Amino acid sequence: MTETGCIVVLNAGSSSIKFAIYESGTDGDVLFRGQIERIGVGPHLEVRDAAGKVVAERKWPNDALDHHGATAEILAQGQALLASRPVLAFGHRVVHGGTKFVAPVRIDRTIVSELDALVPLAPLHQPHNLAPVAAILNAAPHLPQIACFDTAFHRTQPLLAQEFALPRELTAEGVRRYGFHGLSYDFVTKRLLGTQPALAQGRLIIAHLGNGASLCATKDGRSVASTMGFTALDGLVMGTRAGTLDPGVLLYLAQQRGMSFSAIEDLLYRKSGLLGVSGISSDMRTLRASAERSAREAIDLFVYRIVREIGSLAAALGGVDGIVFTAGIGENDAATRAEILAGCRWLGVTLDPERNRAGEGRISMDNSTVSAWIVPTDEERMIAQYTRSALASS
Ligand code: ADP
Repeated sequence: MTETGCIVVLNAGSSSIKFAIYESGTDGDVLFRGQIERIGVGPHLEVRDAAGKVVAERKWPNDALDHHGATAEILAQGQALLASRPVLAFGHRVVHGGTKFVAPVRIDRTIVSELDALVPLAPLHQPHNLAPVAAILNAAPHLPQIACFDTAFHRTQPLLAQEFALPRELTAEGVRRYGFHGLSYDFVTKRLLGTQPALAQGRLIIAHLGNGASLCATKDGRSVASTMGFTALDGLVMGTRAGTLDPGVLLYLAQQRGMSFSAIEDLLYRKSGLLGVSGISSDMRTLRASAERSAREAIDLFVYRIVREIGSLAAALGGVDGIVFTAGIGENDAATRAEILAGCRWLGVTLDPERNRAGEGRISMDNSTVSAWIVPTDEERMIAQYTRSALASS
């Protein structure tokens, strides 16, 4: 495949579609990045060029644009920005690949129905991920589309790490731990394999701390355990998600409070986590800037849960060589990193406060037994790389 052109990466969520357009050449540069946010409640499109300059912006009245309309708008914007440069392929972020999809896959109608069958495992995300796939398949069936999965990176985990202690028929039906944020872990691991190969081949705990948050334990660059399980609700405290709960809480909410399934879903996905505990915001920057006690309490709980889960993953790994921070909070919030690592001193990690403030690369002291690092993630770039490889091998 020697034709030059562009690769379009789409990351469609429940209320936004993010996209990035790359040159098709080996690890080509990003040309444009953009998103339509607030779909259904006042959609807003913004596109920036490689230098970060806004090159397109548009707003619509509340319900003027659904996911289909938003996809069509992005394709039209892309075409206008690219002028005559051809689009060679689309790469999609797809949240769920079940147990079957252990690597990116080229999409055809059979694959679409297999991915549709996984909707019950991720009803809030998978349909949105698949909507642009179907739209492009209808409009331009000849254009290659590659699905890249958030679950795939974790399929190397031992079976023990993927099972719940539930009756076997439920496990067989797919009620098991899948793990998410896999494209981010994949990117960070590959980056480290390039820059710090000895470390990447050791025992790492990678902390993806953004609005969604999880930890992944890797050994020799492969996932061996993670804090997210059957859904992206499990594990750490997140922006609006509670993380690990005693399942008895759900029984209580349904039986004693008479809450409906959709009310519980809303509570767990949108009203809990940093937002629920602080009563102020789901955004770490806002909480750090707040003088309210509840903001501090929310941050304390966020940090406490991470420290405890690091202990759990250290046990799963049988020891730790490095701790790696990534995503919005992990890459930018020196205070949160310092608080987490203060709780991990027993593991043998000593923070270098100056390096931590500088916010790049190694942030532990040279003599720290366990090292600590910041590695910025780029899930869109990972998808673009997979899409390029799929084109090259087709
Ligand atoms: P998403 O999961 O939506 O991709 P991000 O990875 O962008 O989210 O992370 C968003 C989180 O990162 C928010 O809580 C935001 O406040 C936090 N964040 C971003 N920059 C900073 C910063 N400089 N200091 C503290 N937190 C930050």
